Amino acid sequence: MFGVWGHPEAARLTYYGLHSLQHRGQEGAGIVVTDGETLKISKGPGLLTEVFGTGELDSLTGKAAIGHVRYSTAGEEGYENVQPLLFNSQTGSLALAHNGSLTNADALKSQLEYQGSIFQTTSDTEILAHLIRRVGFGNIEDQVKSALSILKGAYAYLIMTEKKLLAALDPNGFRPLSIGRLDGAYVLASETCAFDVIGATYEREVMPGELIIIDDTGLRSERFTMNANRAICSMEYIYFARPDSDFDNINVHTARKRLGKQMVAEAPVEADVVTGVPDSSISAAIGYAEASGIPYELGLIKNRYVGRTFIQPTQEMRERGVKMKLSPVRGVVEGKRVVMVDDSIVRGTTSRRIVQLLRDAGAIEVHVRITAPPIEFPCFYGVDTTSKEELIAASMSIEEIRQEIGADSLEFLSKEGLLKAIGRQDQDENCGQCLACFTGKYPTEVFPDEATNSNMAAQKKPKAPTS
Ligand code: SF4
Repeated sequence: MFGVWGHPEAARLTYYGLHSLQHRGQEGAGIVVTDGETLKISKGPGLLTEVFGTGELDSLTGKAAIGHVRYSTAGEEGYENVQPLLFNSQTGSLALAHNGSLTNADALKSQLEYQGSIFQTTSDTEILAHLIRRVGFGNIEDQVKSALSILKGAYAYLIMTEKKLLAALDPNGFRPLSIGRLDGAYVLASETCAFDVIGATYEREVMPGELIIIDDTGLRSERFTMNANRAICSMEYIYFARPDSDFDNINVHTARKRLGKQMVAEAPVEADVVTGVPDSSISAAIGYAEASGIPYELGLIKNRYVGRTFIQPTQEMRERGVKMKLSPVRGVVEGKRVVMVDDSIVRGTTSRRIVQLLRDAGAIEVHVRITAPPIEFPCFYGVDTTSKEELIAASMSIEEIRQEIGADSLEFLSKEGLLKAIGRQDQDENCGQCLACFTGKYPTEVFPDEATNSNMAAQKKPKAPTS
C-alpha cells in the first residue's frame, strides 16, 4: 500500500511508490485520488505497468491518493476485488486499501449480511467499509475507531475520504506501515523502500493499535486500543520485503545476512560454492558465504520479467513459473558441491525443481540450507499458506522432505537462531515477532475452523529430527 496527502502529483507519486512495492503483489493494482471534492479511481488486474498507462495517470488529478498492489489471500481474484475499494454514499465517499487478513471475517460478514448489508466483493477488505457506515455517530475517525474495535486478525489500512487520509495498524502490527515526508506532504508505505524511490524521508512507523489522521491541518495520532503487543510477521524479514527496506529500525538485507551467518553456526557443510535462490535469498547466501569462507557465486539467474512463483495462485502456474524464471549457471555449478540457500519451503515443489536444475547443470552435490524454521502451521494473517495440506513440513520429517526435494542434505534454521539473527533480545511471545507458522502459537484468537486446522496439523505432524 502507498498513500500521499498534500502533493499536487499525488497519483504519480503513488504510482512510483507502488512500483517499488510490486514484489508484494502482482495480481492487480489500483489508485484512488481526491481533489478535495470527489474521489476518482483507476484499477485493474495485472502488474502496475499493465494497469496504468500515461493516460490513466494524467486523469487522476488531486492532492492526495492511496494505492494498492494485490496479492490475493482472502477472497477470489477478479476486478471487483482489486483494491483500493471505493464506496459512494449520500454522506460522502470512502476509499479503502488493506494489507493483511481478518480472522473473524466469516462471522462478521454473516452478521452484516443478516442485518441487510450487500457485499460487492468477496474480499474481507469490504467488511470495514460496512462497519464504518453502520456507526451512526461522530466524525470519520470516531467511526473508524469504532469499526476497528470489532476486527480481529492482521490489518494495515489506508482509508481516504474527500477531506482526510487515515492509516490504521492492528494491535499486533503484523504488517508493516511507515510514515514519511516529501516537500511538506505526508506519505505512507508498506515498506520504506517506497520512500527512497520518490525521495521522501522516513519519519517513523505506524504503531500497533494506532490510528493516524492526516488532513490539511496536519497529522494527528490517536489510539483505537491500548491493548497492543507487536508481533510483526517474521516472513517480512525472511522472504517478503525488499532488502532495502527497514522495519523496527532493522534493515532487511542486514537481517538476512545474519540469518545466513547463523545458518553456518547451526549447520555447516563442506562445499565448493554457495548460491542463493534469487532474489530474496541472495542476502542470506552472502552471509553464509562470509561466515563459512566458501565463495559466493551466482549459481542461479532469475528472469526478471516473470512474477514470483510463491505469489501465483495455482499449482500449475507455480510450476510453470519456476521453469520460466530460474536458470542455473553451468559454469559456476558444474562439478561443484553447491550450498543452495533458500528462505523457506512451503509445498516443496519449488525446492525440488531448483535442486534438479542445479543437478542438470552438473552440480555433484546440492546441500539445501533454509534460513527459517520449517513452516508447520497455516498462516491466518495474510500469507497464502492457509491450508495445512499445502505445507510439506506439516506432514513430513526433515529427512522425508530432503528425500522429496532430492537434496544431499537439508537443514532449517532454529527458532532461537532466527530471532537472534534478526536482532531480538527476547525469545518468548514478547519478542516483537509473529512465529506462528513455525510454532503454532498464534498471537491472536483463531476461530473454530482455523483452530481445528492448526490442531490437526499439530496432531498429524511426525516429530522432525533435529539434525
Ligand atoms: S503465521 Fe507466519 S507468515 Fe503468518 S504472520 Fe505469522 S510469521 Fe508471518
